[in-house]
Amino acid sequence: MPNAVDRTRLRDLTERELARFEQDHPRSRELFERAKANLLAGVPMPWMSEWAGPYPVFVAEAEGARFTDVDGREYVDLCLGDTGAMTGHAPKEAVEAIAEQAAKGITHMLPTEDAAWVGAEMRRRFGLPFWQFCLTATDANRFTIRLARAITVRPKILVFNYCYHGSVDETILTIEGGVPGPRPGNVGAPVDPTQTTRVVEFNDVEALEAALAHEDVACVLAEPALTNIGIVLPEPGYHDALRRLTRDHGTYLVIDETHTICAGPGGATRAWGLDPDFVTIGKPLASGVPAACYGMSAEVAERTDTFMRSLPTTDVGGIGGTLSGNALSLAAMRATLDHVLTDEAFERMIALGERWADGVKASIERHALPWEVQRIGCRAEYWFAPTPPRNGGEAAAADDHELARFTHLYALNRGILLTPFHNMALMSPATTEADVDAHSVVFDEMAAELVG
Ligand code: PMP
Repeated sequence: MPNAVDRTRLRDLTERELARFEQDHPRSRELFERAKANLLAGVPMPWMSEWAGPYPVFVAEAEGARFTDVDGREYVDLCLGDTGAMTGHAPKEAVEAIAEQAAKGITHMLPTEDAAWVGAEMRRRFGLPFWQFCLTATDANRFTIRLARAITVRPKILVFNYCYHGSVDETILTIEGGVPGPRPGNVGAPVDPTQTTRVVEFNDVEALEAALAHEDVACVLAEPALTNIGIVLPEPGYHDALRRLTRDHGTYLVIDETHTICAGPGGATRAWGLDPDFVTIGKPLASGVPAACYGMSAEVAERTDTFMRSLPTTDVGGIGGTLSGNALSLAAMRATLDHVLTDEAFERMIALGERWADGVKASIERHALPWEVQRIGCRAEYWFAPTPPRNGGEAAAADDHELARFTHLYALNRGILLTPFHNMALMSPATTEADVDAHSVVFDEMAAELVG
């Protein structure tokens, strides 16, 4: 019988770790107190208060896979700006390109040569011929949904239970007790999302078919695997069914590669041979400079073009952003794709992802914990469940906030940053085997203390 976690021990250990954190981070605490005077909850954004410690660590500087905090402590960064810094921090080639472009003009409302280069490179990686640029993955998804609605003249979209595609209003709904509705905890939704969106469980072909049979769905917006409620992998044949059913029902398939770029240079689309109508992606594309894009098939591009020409004027509202496609973002994207997130870099990163997962798995077995590890390429994480959940509902039910807080805090106090909201680790081109092994050692110590 595997060891279950003793909750009293867990709470005692968490108290000990909280005290250690406070002792080790006086300067972060000072800055947090000072920031409270003018920042809501003392942080730039509300989610930055949700780290495992009583206040966040304030960063002094970061390079490669490491950063130093204002108390002079160094960390192995396995969070990597939750994918925004999957390139490693401040990669030399990107920093040079950014500095060079910044000196030549940052934004002009006019294209630069880099745009054409990046479009061609995105085609090479993802197979889709036509691309557009924006600043965030959220916007890439919002703009894609708009186009799909416009050209299909259908009112709804479809997403998966417990998906996350950024702060896109239409996607923030869940199924609770069998009933779709607004996701608990979402702030200030403009309308009930069931008016705009159908939601089904991932890996449920029958539910998908029934939802698409209404023939009112413009597009399915899907991550190739769920990554935002832990990693939930597609079952064999699921993507084939998704592609077949969307085609049968005149629904476009949008694959959001923002996180699954971890599967390889062309994301899961290339690694798993997917055939989407649209691809959306943001986060690490420009080494952390805001940049995102969305690609489309020739058929979609032609329909979009015809639609746009039919308008009495240009699109006056929905798709835009003054800074979209700016020269700085494009220069940073070009340098990142050309020199940092290269095909060769992915080979090394994926091997490190495997090494990390093997290390954690070995400890789980050694300490007979009822936990599991999942991985997509260079992204891996552990689950507090003996078998991996097969959909978002199961994944949400397996969440153990108390335990996750402890494991994160334990790692943080020993110089390792994991991704908040998940038990996730990401490898960058700058991550080393020693960085990975440092985590394995700390994880094993933590597991030993937990089981006693
Ligand atoms: N798509 C996916 C799959 C994401 O995980 C996220 C953010 N976690 C987004 C889109 C939105 O990215 P951003 O917040 O940078 O707009």
